[in-house]
Amino acid sequence: MKVAFCSSEVFPFAKTGGLADVSGALPLALVDKGIEVKIFMPLYKGIKPQKMFTDFGTSKVKKGEIIFVRNDDYFFRDSLYGTPKGDYPDNLERFYFFCNRVTEVLKKINFSPDIIHCNDWQTSPLIINLKTKFKEDSFFNKTRSVLTIHNLAYQGVFDKEKFALLDLPWDYFSLNFLEFYGKVNLLKGGIIFADMVNTVSPNYAKQVQTPDFGCGLDGVLREKGNRLSGIINAIDYKVWDPKKDEFIYKKYSSAQIDNKYINKQKFQKKLGLKQNKNIFFLGMVSRLAEQKGIDIISKGLSRILKNYQVVILGLGDDRYHKILKKKEKKYRNSFSLYLKFDETLAHQIYASCDVFLMPSKFEPCGLSQMISYKYATVPIVHHTGGLVDTVVDYKDKGGGFVFTQYTDRALGDAVDRAKKVFDDKKEWLALLNKISKYNFSWERTAKRYIDMYKKCQLLP
Ligand code: ADP
Repeated sequence: MKVAFCSSEVFPFAKTGGLADVSGALPLALVDKGIEVKIFMPLYKGIKPQKMFTDFGTSKVKKGEIIFVRNDDYFFRDSLYGTPKGDYPDNLERFYFFCNRVTEVLKKINFSPDIIHCNDWQTSPLIINLKTKFKEDSFFNKTRSVLTIHNLAYQGVFDKEKFALLDLPWDYFSLNFLEFYGKVNLLKGGIIFADMVNTVSPNYAKQVQTPDFGCGLDGVLREKGNRLSGIINAIDYKVWDPKKDEFIYKKYSSAQIDNKYINKQKFQKKLGLKQNKNIFFLGMVSRLAEQKGIDIISKGLSRILKNYQVVILGLGDDRYHKILKKKEKKYRNSFSLYLKFDETLAHQIYASCDVFLMPSKFEPCGLSQMISYKYATVPIVHHTGGLVDTVVDYKDKGGGFVFTQYTDRALGDAVDRAKKVFDDKKEWLALLNKISKYNFSWERTAKRYIDMYKKCQLLP
């Protein structure tokens, strides 16, 4: 089976969040299962392909190949989608260009895919094109399309005037197609035209069909019926494994969890916090967006910081940067803040902290809780989306602490509950041992994607 996997970010080449992790790992897990895969992404600033042609570059990744679409005006910029002040105003043009170029390159290299697998709004135009402009094109005769929604909150919504840039008849600017409250909605088009749609966890697949979580597209999603499913994400243990992690101070496995405390103390020192393995140390690595629970974190932080240490690594909305900076000033001795994107620090936080904070308001899947498990760091999560599928509360014999009400108080209570268990050294060690052995590898998840591709191929 031949698959063209298209994404706006792929680890390790470019990353702002979980989409890159998935796009870096899933295609290679598919290759391991005998699928022929070409990965497509834009050629952003800083990426150096092994081979360069006029309008695209290529690199080998394992037995697969990644193809970087080049347009320096559009992609040679400091960020992927925009700055903390807002999105780039020409994002539609940028990603529409990318999608068009993917189909051209597929023809140029004569790779006629069985499946075009798109991700989120940025690659939705490819699916729209496939079902409109390329409907009669024999090159895509047998090609079926899959759209994975990593986050329904980002839909690629643009002013009506931009519709003309998509080279589609105006009939498609209507309620049944791309029109959305008087604007163009690319993700909506992708959902409508895709042969199959999936979200990144079963619980989120249910949630998005309700008005509370559907972000205005719940009706469109309900209409997909059994063409909509949820497939839980996984993590790449070649990237996330404290036994082999080059970024951390001291490597460790579930058999030597004590070495985690060497990381903890060295990291406390680096952050200028008091070095003491008995001080409860909480970490967070996150995009700083409303989704991630920054509002309840900032409200609840003072209570937490009275007795515990906290480190937050994040990048996102300006207003959250400001709120957190204020807290940092006030609580210099117990709070450390990094407003940037930094792989090394991320690994050090997962390895050094006792617990990981993930109070997301909604969460399509979440990868950080799975990464935390591997590093024997206990996740504290809000009961929503993929966190429901992956974190069971300690009192129900699970490996995390879950709070149900979305309030700073409930978050603080969950932190205190975790601290009580932390104080019982034997219990805590048993918990760390257990979670570090959990398995969320791509092997199983890749098989589910292949099953979906096969179902897709049977569609009329
Ligand atoms: P989302 O995709 O919604 O951002 P996920 O939990 O699915 O959230 O994935 C987040 C990924 O991005 C994780 O690998 C996390 O470690 C990483 N990440 C988020 N923010 C940062 C940051 N500021 N620096 C380094 N890594 C980050």
